Amino acid sequence: MTSGQFDNYIDGVWVGSQKRITNVSPSDTEDVLGDYAQASVEETHAAIAAAVAGQRGWQATGLEHRYKVLMAIGDELLERSEELGAQLSREEGKPLAEGRGEVYRSGQFFHYFAAEVLRQMGDTADSVRPGIEVETRREPMGVVVVITPWNFPMATAAWKIAPALAFGNAVVFKPANLVPASAVSLTEIISRQDMPAGTFNLVMGSGREVGEALITSPAVDAITFTGSLQTGKRIAAAAAANLTKFQLEMGSKNALVVLDDADLDLAAECAVNGAFSGTGQKCTASSRLIVTAAVHDAFVEKMCERMAQLKVGHALDAQTQIGPVVDAGQLAQNLEYLELGTSEGAQLVCGGEVDDSKGYYMTPALLVNSHNAMTINRDEVFGPIACVIKVADYEEALATLNDTQYGLTAGVITRSLRDATHFKRHARTGCVMVNLPTAGTDYHVPFGGRKSSSFGSREQGQYAVEFYTEIKTTYIRSA
Ligand code: NAD
Repeated sequence: MTSGQFDNYIDGVWVGSQKRITNVSPSDTEDVLGDYAQASVEETHAAIAAAVAGQRGWQATGLEHRYKVLMAIGDELLERSEELGAQLSREEGKPLAEGRGEVYRSGQFFHYFAAEVLRQMGDTADSVRPGIEVETRREPMGVVVVITPWNFPMATAAWKIAPALAFGNAVVFKPANLVPASAVSLTEIISRQDMPAGTFNLVMGSGREVGEALITSPAVDAITFTGSLQTGKRIAAAAAANLTKFQLEMGSKNALVVLDDADLDLAAECAVNGAFSGTGQKCTASSRLIVTAAVHDAFVEKMCERMAQLKVGHALDAQTQIGPVVDAGQLAQNLEYLELGTSEGAQLVCGGEVDDSKGYYMTPALLVNSHNAMTINRDEVFGPIACVIKVADYEEALATLNDTQYGLTAGVITRSLRDATHFKRHARTGCVMVNLPTAGTDYHVPFGGRKSSSFGSREQGQYAVEFYTEIKTTYIRSA
């Protein structure tokens, strides 16, 4: 690779390209991270073919070797979390602490799934026919395509690639074009491991070209995707045509419910963290704040006080709490949603300001007097905007929470065990948080949603095995 130019990785070789994109920091559009190769459709097919061949060798590799490879990847991510975290923050815009934390977490995913390599057990049973034994064991799917969004460039890749490799699959990885630097760094680490050529491939490029070539290929055995609902639906249709196994993690419209008996300092802390960390660009962000009438005004006052203290700025500035929005298109869309919200009758009480600096900065915005039917409370905005919805009581809060096409996370702030327990059971979401922000999840337990937020088996923890393996049932004449 030439300095400042970064290539794709296909069949164990770095492959350049005439076609490249420039990776620019959202904190300062004059700060260029480099030029990144764009794979052609032919190169994408070559990566799939390499993965088909490489997978056979990888599956045959002993368990201890696979364990060591995953541990080594995890070790390096942990050791280099400062350096790679800074790079991640520079290209995506999240504050340094979040960038470092994400790389560290990515290492933990590799460590977790290294341990899973050694925990692959089958079952045995007697047949209903005498003299015959039955066994079931899991086998790798084969070639797994990993397609990721830009908001967690390292972690989303890690929580898919680690289990795919752990269970003996080959991988073709297509990251989002806004964040190729993290993808190349992860690939460099993986490329130094002792693995058969073709076991891991990186193909950078657009969804229209590279993505389509991947999802329409009959040689692919499974597609794991995180991204928008619209792309998820397209992947479902393409995968269905070939009967390829697929798993989708998509958008959401999460709500934090604040009840009459809530600790309002905790409520405001959870709301600010859940709505605005990562600049609100999280699938788990609390973009709806459903608050009972008795505490509504006091809650809004506390929110505005806290939001006024938030330091918005350059991702690499140690003081920054909220980084820039990821690009010009996302910033323009955020401002359109703010305008739409106010035109529908909501009232902007704080934030929503932009400046004319060289980054895509926007102060976190809070809208009040909003109701659940408004477009800003139906669409996933994916920016630092939260809307307060005033409700009479717990029953109305729960009904409002569930009145959405999405269902990823839900939070409740209450001192009542009865309400918390009822909420935990009746929130129609994949994850529920009690007296915690809606964002922020662990790496050793399942993650995913309901309704239009997810499709297919759960990711992460012991549940990941469902997606990355296939069960085989064998009958043996034993007498
Ligand atoms: P996106 O859907 O635009 O892109 C995601 C990925 O899909 C990118 O790599 C893109 O290039 C690729 N892609 C686009 N069109 C494709 C096609 N036709 N075929 C194959 N691949 C294609 O999403 P984004 O803007 O990068 O990310 C933001 C979205 O991701 C939000 O909706 C957010 O909620 C969602 N997200 C969900 C989770 C979750 O776990 N539920 C986590 C993070 C982000």
